[in-house]
Amino acid sequence: MSSLTKYLLEEKFYKTVVEDGSDIIFIVDYNANIAYHNPSVKKTIGYESLTGKYFFDYIHPKQLKKFKRAFKESTNLPYNSNIEFEFLCQNGSYKYLEFNSINLKHKDNIEALILDCRDISGRKQDQQELIEAQKAKEQFLANMSHEIRTPVNGIAGMVDLLSNTMQSKEQGKYLNAIKHSADNLKVIINDILDYSVIESGKVALEKIGFDIDYQVESVINSLELQATEKNLTINYQPATKNKMVLLGDPVRLSQILINLVNNAIKFTNQGGITIKLSFQKQNKKMAMVNFEVHDTGIGISAQKIEHIFETFKQADESITRKYGGTGLGLAITKQLVELQGGSIRVESKVNQGTSFFFSIPYAIGTESDLIHKSHEVNTGPKKKNKKSFAGLRVLLVEDNDINRLYASTILKKWGCICDEAVNGEIALEMLRKKNYNIVLMDVHMPVMDGLEATQMIRKSFTSPKNEVPIIAFTANAIKGEKEDYLDIGMNDYISKPFIPDELYNVIQKYYTPVASKASASVTDTPQANLEHLKTISDGNMEFVNEIITAFLEQTPPLLAGMQQACDQKDWVKTGDLAHKIKPNLSLLGITKLIPLVQSLETDGRSQQHTDTLAERVTTFIQGCQAAMESLKKEVNQ
Ligand code: ADP
Repeated sequence: MSSLTKYLLEEKFYKTVVEDGSDIIFIVDYNANIAYHNPSVKKTIGYESLTGKYFFDYIHPKQLKKFKRAFKESTNLPYNSNIEFEFLCQNGSYKYLEFNSINLKHKDNIEALILDCRDISGRKQDQQELIEAQKAKEQFLANMSHEIRTPVNGIAGMVDLLSNTMQSKEQGKYLNAIKHSADNLKVIINDILDYSVIESGKVALEKIGFDIDYQVESVINSLELQATEKNLTINYQPATKNKMVLLGDPVRLSQILINLVNNAIKFTNQGGITIKLSFQKQNKKMAMVNFEVHDTGIGISAQKIEHIFETFKQADESITRKYGGTGLGLAITKQLVELQGGSIRVESKVNQGTSFFFSIPYAIGTESDLIHKSHEVNTGPKKKNKKSFAGLRVLLVEDNDINRLYASTILKKWGCICDEAVNGEIALEMLRKKNYNIVLMDVHMPVMDGLEATQMIRKSFTSPKNEVPIIAFTANAIKGEKEDYLDIGMNDYISKPFIPDELYNVIQKYYTPVASKASASVTDTPQANLEHLKTISDGNMEFVNEIITAFLEQTPPLLAGMQQACDQKDWVKTGDLAHKIKPNLSLLGITKLIPLVQSLETDGRSQQHTDTLAERVTTFIQGCQAAMESLKKEVNQ
């Protein structure tokens, strides 16, 4: 008899496995009373004996309900496995264990379970560390996204504002150079950040109605100049002549097209680019849209083409030196296509050209799904339809100097009275002292961030201050964050970089015109009487309209200045501004306001009757607003 056979016959291995093994083995009856356990209990969880104890007493209370369910389930099965739980150790701490069970009912008709438990605390800790590392990475991304995008957007925004006030040709040239560099930097940074955000699975895809031809044409328009400069043509062949409304994410589609067409222009020196669309209806609701981007450029060699969609890979290092780029564009493009359920491939012949083919499935929409009529997309509200925000009190909370300057310059142009705070704590202080109609709140700020400040406003202020609309103002583009902002009490969200129209639209949503509120209190709406103007212009309506337009443009900032002076109790300045506005009121025949403006001028400059000045300023501003509204109608007619 071999020694192994002898060993088996003597059943010594039972002892090795059960008595000496590292697994804890419990035998527990169906009522969870512990009938037996092996010595490993002492080593792993510290107890001398648990025999006769109630198993459920040792389970972490947080998991008890779930554990009881799993235990019950195990009594109905011959075997069960991988049930995780936390068990109370002798020293008071909890340890992660996992059991596999054998049901003795099925073997020996005994109502008890053998629980073979394994210590999994190491694995749990690894998992926890992984989750924390992932969280840290996301936080880092969010911060980077803010820290990098913010100053770059600030530079780009300020350059735009500066070019409106531009002086000489030479300055223009320098400004263009800054703009060009800032734009380049923006592309590179956005590439890197986009890539990391996509990697972390946090891209939020929209599902909104859009006109596909409009979208493609906008991309072509934005790149046409670049193509013309290289003497290249861009030719577009739509799928149908009919308007095609799809439901999906038009911004991400544009991003894909911009990457591909941009590359096509970059790597083509003669000939042109052709963009072609075709459309396969899959059923009533879905269509596969096939896009093709062909160029007649330098092409990509067979061995390089395999790696073209990989991160940081460029076909040739000398190409990088010559054409620039991060080597991320196509990797992002591929990820974006795949995220939308599509696929992408490339064909190319060196010195003949390259063709990219991608397809994305979209739900089919109708015209009513379009948020804007296609010709209005991106153009924002037309100037003459814009309401004035004169007198609107805005609290702008933003820590970045340039961004604050950018936003406040725009707000002041619209006639808002804009106060500024550099962090949440200062914002709360200001809100304690004054009422505001709207708060624009950056999210990431030192001392106190926008989220905390919002919570404080909602919780610790009283009405009406705690109801002020708060718009989150942030550079983050991470999925789920918007919901978080709304959950903690913000009303809306605008992501930087914003163009003025976006800011305008979001403010307009929460803006109740001062004039319409006022119409209840100003019983006698001061109307303009244009007879005087018509007489002096000999009935020239063009001239009349020009004067009205100038008045509509110049008055809001003057009123805003007056309100601000009044808030600061600078009565002399209030009077001076009244003096400035007065002749315009006469010219436009807004005679009902003349005695009031006169009193503001006199009392302000002489600092008399100042106790009622603030109230009179409010009435005056409301009166002007009402008059301006009626003048606007006049111009539109
Ligand atoms: P980059 O930002 O460097 O342009 P991409 O990922 O967009 O990075 O492109 C990677 C490389 O693929 C480019 O550097 C270029 O070598 C090659 N490539 C991309 N598109 C074309 C094209 N239309 N024609 C020729 N080469 C191309």
